[in-house]
Amino acid sequence: MRIFETRRSICILLCAIVDNMMSGILEKFQSPGKGNGVRALKDMSHGLTVMIAEPYVYTVCRIKTACDHCLHRKEKLLRCSQCKVARYCNSHCQRKAWQGHKRECKCLRSTLPNVPPNSVRLVGKIIFKMLQKPDTASEELYTISDLQSHIKEASEEVKDGLRHLATALQHYLKEEIQEISQLPPGFQVLEYFGKVSAKVTCNSFTISDGEMQDVGVGLYPSMSLLNHSCDPNCVIVFEGTCLLLRTVKEIPKGEELTISYIDVKMPTQGRRDQLQRQYCFLCDCQRCLLRDKDEDMLAGDAEASREVESSVSRLEELLSQNTAEEALNLCKTLMNRYYLPDKNIYQLKILDCAMDASIDLGLWEEALHFGLRTLEPYSLYYSNYHPVRAVQLMKVGKLQNYQGLFAEAMKTLKQAFDIMKVTHGRDHGQTQQLAELMNDCEANMRGM
Ligand SMILES: [Zn+2]
Ligand SMILES: [Zn+2]
Ligand SMILES: [Zn+2]
Repeated sequence: MRIFETRRSICILLCAIVDNMMSGILEKFQSPGKGNGVRALKDMSHGLTVMIAEPYVYTVCRIKTACDHCLHRKEKLLRCSQCKVARYCNSHCQRKAWQGHKRECKCLRSTLPNVPPNSVRLVGKIIFKMLQKPDTASEELYTISDLQSHIKEASEEVKDGLRHLATALQHYLKEEIQEISQLPPGFQVLEYFGKVSAKVTCNSFTISDGEMQDVGVGLYPSMSLLNHSCDPNCVIVFEGTCLLLRTVKEIPKGEELTISYIDVKMPTQGRRDQLQRQYCFLCDCQRCLLRDKDEDMLAGDAEASREVESSVSRLEELLSQNTAEEALNLCKTLMNRYYLPDKNIYQLKILDCAMDASIDLGLWEEALHFGLRTLEPYSLYYSNYHPVRAVQLMKVGKLQNYQGLFAEAMKTLKQAFDIMKVTHGRDHGQTQQLAELMNDCEANMRGM
């Protein structure tokens, strides 16, 4: 198998792929101090889809509640009768997934009752894909080869993690290892796994559904050219596993396109630490330099803020274990004890959790009360056009509509729509759901 080729052909191939995707409106360039980047070849308005990408590989991250193939969340899913790990909406999804699942199915079976972490499954899929199509595998590998691994700059802690991952991967793949040993002589399996894992960790994208819930993780090599900004001019949304890059600001010709790699609802130090840890660079964007909005985010008593912060992970744990009642009680206790302003990001987190827990428990009035309190802070932190804010407004509008507050609901849903047509686009499934909800609300108003 021709795995190693010259650097030149790697570049040519990557350029060809990227050119293809950008259809004359974008170009790859050397961004000062950042390496590869993408810039606009002409003036662009907001609300445009400028790149569309299918993942090279992807894997579900909610193994029990989302389809392994299309990543839709569903209450009832069919289980793969062999590994009992993969789950599907129906036999159609299962048939479509089989080609990619066949080999991992054996590996998954061999490690039962343990299920490997997502990153191990994802790297496993890359390796199977490389082995599965020897003719094109080398081509696809180039795009993977070109991804930056940052392994040299990684901290000892990260390197330890990668070594751990590589060992887990080797254990996971042992059923299929014979073929991997057919790779060229001198091919250091463990080292190679480590490198691929490092690349995957730095270059994978979390796939979220229309409601901005994380459902999977995928590798989109061409998207790895996009650099980060804490105040980006583009956002990424998904339609199934398909990634859409959308403009959310006017972008003049020559300007670099940026996305945010992380949730921006975090104070400067937190953002910078996470970017350094996960992506090995120090962000020096305008927002970081000005420490913009830090004061708002940490508003209120510092001691109380730290106390609430330390309870957030416990709260998330409770919610993920479907113990909504306990979660709601903890939220109320924290709010009554610490009195932080709603714009404090930890308080905001509590409000969000309280809304979700109330929805789970069917306590609509309470859910709406908590939801409404999040809207102003959301507009502060997700200013401009941000998909997270659109989805939050839609959630609140839905609650208002459900409780017969049709005029209020209509107002909230319209706000959501104005953002969503920019962040998702009018054709996106989520925008269409929102439009249906607005029709429903309008019909309710007429029927009053
Ligand atoms: Zn499905
Ligand atoms: Zn299976
Ligand atoms: Zn920044």
